[in-house]
Amino acid sequence: MTVGIVGAGQLGRMLALAGYPLGLDFLFLDPADQPPAAQLAPVLKSAFNNSTALASLAARCEVVTIDWENVSVAALRELGRETRISPPPAAIAAAQDRVSEKRLFEKLRIPTTRWRAVSSRRQFDAAVRDIGLPGIVKTRRMGYDGKGQALLRSAGDVERAWAELGQVPLLYEELVPFDMEVSVIGVRGRTGECRVYPLNHNLHSGGILRLTRAPCGNARLNRLARQQVLAVMQRLRYVGVLTIEFFVCKGRLVANEMAPRVHNSGHWTIEGAVTSQFENHLRAILGLPLGETGARGYSAMINLIGTMPERSGLLRHPGVHLHDYAKEPRPGRKLGHVTVVEQDSARCERRARQLMAELAPEIHIP
Ligand code: AMP
Repeated sequence: MTVGIVGAGQLGRMLALAGYPLGLDFLFLDPADQPPAAQLAPVLKSAFNNSTALASLAARCEVVTIDWENVSVAALRELGRETRISPPPAAIAAAQDRVSEKRLFEKLRIPTTRWRAVSSRRQFDAAVRDIGLPGIVKTRRMGYDGKGQALLRSAGDVERAWAELGQVPLLYEELVPFDMEVSVIGVRGRTGECRVYPLNHNLHSGGILRLTRAPCGNARLNRLARQQVLAVMQRLRYVGVLTIEFFVCKGRLVANEMAPRVHNSGHWTIEGAVTSQFENHLRAILGLPLGETGARGYSAMINLIGTMPERSGLLRHPGVHLHDYAKEPRPGRKLGHVTVVEQDSARCERRARQLMAELAPEIHIP
């Protein structure tokens, strides 16, 4: 049974690593020369929106999924009804556009930031007036890892932000004075069966995830996040793993955005949960029973960004699990991650801080 994956990055690579023990095969589609998944499975080298290449991928696979949400939904839809695509293209489309994402949250009464759509300079000025300062302007599409965003602290920043981003449709929203950032990962199978992982506590710097600790939050916060991800999955008739990122403000969840795929904040589930997010995504899209999503202890996951630390130095730490994505180093690029799992939360916290001090000393952990 072959799974087709559009995008052969580290998420695709970890999907394949989770799928081989289940007896699955993989075929990827990606325009890059040596993408991370190429070490594991064949890759059709093609642009993401090439209809002929997508059709050839679909013809050779049981099901088609994605490892990057900015794929061409129009090209996926051209594959026709006989191709199983999971998650459904409509869900991918909803998550590609920050405005449709916000509208979906509002329709489901999921609290989100105050926002305005902006497609002209006049609308931008009106949005800044209505929502106020400070705020963040973001491109509606194609934003990831903090790219396509500008922070506005004073009226003087409007001109600069417009010159930087004004060529494409935008969204302006309030800057949320959050106490912490969390994310919830849910999975829904073909029969409507759902499971939800415990909350992840995420620390970003410059828009890039640096550290995740899980499980986190009290029972009430976990229950709220669970209800919200279930509501989104049900509304979208979702199949696969879905992630929602939140700000936590004075004990309230404020939804920031969602991702129609396995997520960086869920990498800890490989070693730290009964079933990893990657395995559960595959189970869901293939119509198999979903696995338990409980945590096996307390996990900390640290992203390796820009340069890869020396392997033997990392592996000297007891219990460290290293994931090297086989990528060329480049500033700001996610090259790998490490995870530690402990049975005691205080010990996990200590180890997370020690590893961060070694691997990312420039990051302040509150
Ligand atoms: P995003 O691409 O929307 O996930 O933004 C990346 C990161 O930028 C978030 O995880 C936050 O750390 C920060 N950020 C984005 N939007 C806001 C906001 N409205 N208020 C405060 N921080 C934000």
